[in-house]
Amino acid sequence: MNLTANIPTQPTEIAERLYLDFDSFFATAEQYFNPALRGRPVGVMPIDSPHSGCIAVSREAKRMGVPAMASVAVARQHAPDIILVIARPDAYVRLHNRILEAIETCLPIANVRSIDELVCHLLPSEAAQPEILGRRIKQALADRFNPMLTCSIGIAKTELLAKIAAEMNKPDGLAILSSTDLPQRLAHLELNDLPGISKGMGARLANAGVTNFEALWGIGPKHARAIWGNIEGERFWNGLHGHHFERPETIKRMFGHSRMLPVDWRSTDKVHACARQLALSAARRLRRGDVRATKLTFGMRGGRSFSNSGKGKNQPRWGCEITFRPARDDRTFLHALSEGIARSTREARFSPRSVSVTLHGLEEAQAVQSDLFAVEIPQTDRFPCTATAKWERLSDTLDGLRSKHGPSAISLGPKDDVPGGYLGAKIAFGRIPDAADFNEAQTEDSATHFCSV
Ligand SMILES: [Mg+2]
Repeated sequence: MNLTANIPTQPTEIAERLYLDFDSFFATAEQYFNPALRGRPVGVMPIDSPHSGCIAVSREAKRMGVPAMASVAVARQHAPDIILVIARPDAYVRLHNRILEAIETCLPIANVRSIDELVCHLLPSEAAQPEILGRRIKQALADRFNPMLTCSIGIAKTELLAKIAAEMNKPDGLAILSSTDLPQRLAHLELNDLPGISKGMGARLANAGVTNFEALWGIGPKHARAIWGNIEGERFWNGLHGHHFERPETIKRMFGHSRMLPVDWRSTDKVHACARQLALSAARRLRRGDVRATKLTFGMRGGRSFSNSGKGKNQPRWGCEITFRPARDDRTFLHALSEGIARSTREARFSPRSVSVTLHGLEEAQAVQSDLFAVEIPQTDRFPCTATAKWERLSDTLDGLRSKHGPSAISLGPKDDVPGGYLGAKIAFGRIPDAADFNEAQTEDSATHFCSV
């Protein structure tokens, strides 16, 4: 376990947040599930394709110089014997839930920030001995899981500072950052190393003459807001200077999915089959959210093309939005998608590399329920919905059967497999799928999916 120097002995007044971030989570999860992978360079890929890249690499691979998001070629260049496996989101989510249980034996979790990151709010009594608290959490995890499943913990006044502290000496780190250590203790950091400062934001800061941590520390909150162009700048300034500035809870505004298409999935039929499964999966998630959608957006992107001079051109994009009465049934969404597909065949003049389907324009189910159930909707409407209530009941019945007998039990129309599998259950930042999001049978923990390329 790494410990930074200068751990304050009495940091009671500063330690209000504990941030915990697992190290190389997807890769160490695979090593945890499969002992044969332990101690070896491992890369986790989203789909079984030589054109894909790693979404996580093990610490052994990192030590050999493999970058976190390496392509297959780059990964093999640095680590010729790297073992490439295909991501298994269902297994990672199950592990995530077991991890939360273990941590909660030590400390209540305030917010789960992603599948491998979470934050706890500390009481003064808990904050009094932050190092002991950090070690206790690590011990609880080591007792339940293999020691390779390590995390880095940061403890500081605000969530932002605690997250920065968690990054300070990965892997298996424990760092306590006191406000009195600032700005000196972070002076060596590149601005792009700070959470919330992307490459683009780094460029905006540079334009404003802010090129190092000391300069960033010196700007005021209004200046930060002006550079960021929105409230996020002020939020960042407050977090950095030890003031809590909690984010309001985000309201769900859309249910959508997108999918990269391997070469053999770019024919018109397959693109449409994939879009159909994306729409059905988004619809199932929408119904669980107890809302109705009034819009469906169908979009496609092509690949980057190159001119004779070798200059890359922008990826072609096409998309359309179809509107309809507030709906939550598969049939309405598939009708809307059919309309979108018909338009795409007329208008989109490129071979798609990815497709996306989004249901949005959400309304509370309760707010429109009386309209839908009290009267039969006339057929003159946007879609032939004379039996909307029946189609809604059918969709609910299909959802119920799938949840009882498994995701393959029944579907409206053919259930095509889609590239990469795990439809509806990609792990995005801030959204952890739960068991009902998975549309395929769950995998065994130990059933590593090896990459075939
Ligand atoms: Mg992590």
